[in-house]
This record gives sequence, C-alpha cells and structure tokens, in this order.
Amino acid sequence: MKFNTKTIHGGQHPDPATGAVMPPVYQTSTFAQKSPGVHGGYEYSRAANPTRTALENALASIENGTRGLAFSSGLAATDCVLKLLKPNDEVIAMDDLYGGTYRMFSKIYQEFGIKFHFVDMNDLDKFKSLINENTKLVWVETPTNPLMKLADIEAVAKITKEKNLLFAVDNTFATPYLQRPLDMGADIVMHSATKYLGGHSDVIAGALIVKNEQLGEKLHFAQFATGGTLGPQDSYLVLRGIKTLHLRMQRHCENGEKVANFLSNHPKVKTVYYPGLESNPFYDIAKKQMQGGFGGMVSFTFESGKKEDAIKFLESVRVFTLAESLGGVESLANHPALMTHASIPEDKRKEIGITDDLVRLSVGVEDAEDLLEDLRQALG
Ligand SMILES: *Cc1c(COP(=O)(O)O)cnc(C)c1O
Repeated sequence: MKFNTKTIHGGQHPDPATGAVMPPVYQTSTFAQKSPGVHGGYEYSRAANPTRTALENALASIENGTRGLAFSSGLAATDCVLKLLKPNDEVIAMDDLYGGTYRMFSKIYQEFGIKFHFVDMNDLDKFKSLINENTKLVWVETPTNPLMKLADIEAVAKITKEKNLLFAVDNTFATPYLQRPLDMGADIVMHSATKYLGGHSDVIAGALIVKNEQLGEKLHFAQFATGGTLGPQDSYLVLRGIKTLHLRMQRHCENGEKVANFLSNHPKVKTVYYPGLESNPFYDIAKKQMQGGFGGMVSFTFESGKKEDAIKFLESVRVFTLAESLGGVESLANHPALMTHASIPEDKRKEIGITDDLVRLSVGVEDAEDLLEDLRQALG
C-alpha cells in the first residue's frame, strides 16, 4: 500500500460490531467479561480501548512499524521512553530540542540519576566520543524546533546499531509524509500528535511507533503501568486528522517554500531557517532523507537583530495567529525565546542560536497569496 492510501486505510477496518466505517468512540472505562479473565481482548481502557487501538494501528501503518502506542501528550510519549532507563544510564541528545523535552530531561530525569549530554549530531566524532558503557539512548529531533537543524538519521543509526544503543527520533516536524525514521534504522519514532498528525489544533496527543515487537511490548508495559494513555475521544480526533495528513502536508510544504523564499528576499529579514533553501547548511541531508518537500515550519531573524522588531511583527500579523503550537491547518507565529522555549536558560538559548529576534512560523494551508500579503504588511 502506498503512503497516501495508508493514511486512510492503513491498519483500518470497519467496526466489527456494527460495520461503522469510522471506529465509534468507545467512551467506556471497562468491558464486560463472560467469566473471570475471559473477554474479547478488552478489559480496562488504560490497558486497551478499541478507539485507541484503531489509532495505534493507523500510527504503526503510516510509520512502517509493527506497533503504535497513543499517549495523552507528546511529552507523555517521550516520558514513556525514558522509563526504559535506570539510574546511571546516559542519554545523548541533539543540542536543539523542543523546550519541553529539554525541560523533562534536565529538570526531571537528571534528578533521577540519568545523565544527559547535548551535542550537535552533525559532529559525528563528537557524538561518538560521548558514548561509553553507560550510554543507553540517543534522542534526535529532525528537523529541530525552532532552528530547523537536521541530523542525518542513517548516519546516526549506523553508529547506534554498532554500539547497541536505542535510537529514538522525534518526527513531529517532518511527519511520515516526508520521512520515515524506522526505515532508516531508528528504533523508536515519537510524535507530538498535537501537531501535524492531529492537524486541527483541537487535541493534545502523543505517539510512539516501533518495528521491534519486543520493544513494543516493553513500551506498552511502561505505558500501561504508569498510565499516560490517550482517551477515546482524543484518539478519534487524531485518527480523523491522519486521514488527510498527506493532503495537508502537500499544501504545508508548498506554502512553506513560498514563505521561505519570500522572507529570504525581504530586506528586513536576516536569516531564514528552512531546510528547503539551497543556501541552508542542511539542504543536502534534507534532500536525502525528506521526500516530497521540506515541511511547513519556517523560522527567521531580523536584519536589525532587535527583539522589538520581532514583537512588533508578531503584534501586527492578521492571518497568522500569535500562538504556541504548530502543525494545524491555520498559520501560527511564535516568539521562541519568550514562549515555547522560555524554559531553556538564556545563556543556553543564546549559545544554540535562539536569539530574541527569532520568530517561528507554522505555515498553514491557507491561500499562499494571503499569507505573503500578511507577512508583507506585518514586516512593514
Ligand atoms: C509540541 C512538541 C512536543 C511535545 O508535545 P506535546 O503534545 O505538547 O506534549 C515534542 N516535540 C516537538 C518537536 C514538539 O513540537
């Protein structure tokens, strides 16, 4: 089955009880048993719920995995992976991460005795030099939030396989429409399904997908044992979103490229971070591992370098909405340093390039002319 068919039919069957084409929202916590322990596969909705199962099967299908797991948020999904570790284990993570991921690693799990190293994954020698006998997990986001850095998934996977490390990829920005990390050697794919998978800014959800069935069982055990599962109504919303993922992503990519090109030619704009620009340092990796486009996320800075200019721009946009989050049908604009990435200490932010004049755009699926017109007026 091709990807565009999988988003609609992958792992999907009409409801066995009624033939309903979309799975009903099984809004129940528990299931009747015929005799103690004798049931049709469902006993309690924390363990499994048919609406969530339908979503989990769809997730496994679109990422070319064998097992999908749906969580109450993207961070709950990440949290579940960290629960595979023990005190003194070490994690090597990309140095530009979603702020909440960085916060969980540094503020929660560091306290539990897990050690984190943050490194530029394009410096493979540096990465290799950090691996020791305690290293268990490698965590990569590509493209990253908000600086759109890429990591070469195949190159990293080659090293993690050699060293027998778990390799997880946060695939939130690219989605399986553009990139399928399990096919490139990653062990775990993570999503904030709040973003492109859900696609309509109406649900908080997360996902993990794996190929290895044993690993899938371990993660399911951690999920079941600690409880960060996605409810049936929210599972339904994400499943509904996935049905149009390929259509939305096609337009996100087209609009993203137009916005990136427009900004690159604007006199008030200094740097545009978009992997689809030939001038972007990650363009070659993007060409290799992202198929069919470069996504809808575009960040940029101002020629003046001034925070006030970024704020004035964000107060002036009309079609774009000033809000956190991304990946929905509507275009959003965000100030990472003051909003999504405020939990990263200022010196660390500066060090990795999240400056006070950096703006992040989630380019939606509106008419591109209206988006460009809005940017033109807001830049003044
Ligand atoms: C939003 C986001 C997360 C966190 O997901 P939630 O659903 O908000 O918990 C993780 N990674 C990336 C890249 C994100 O954009």
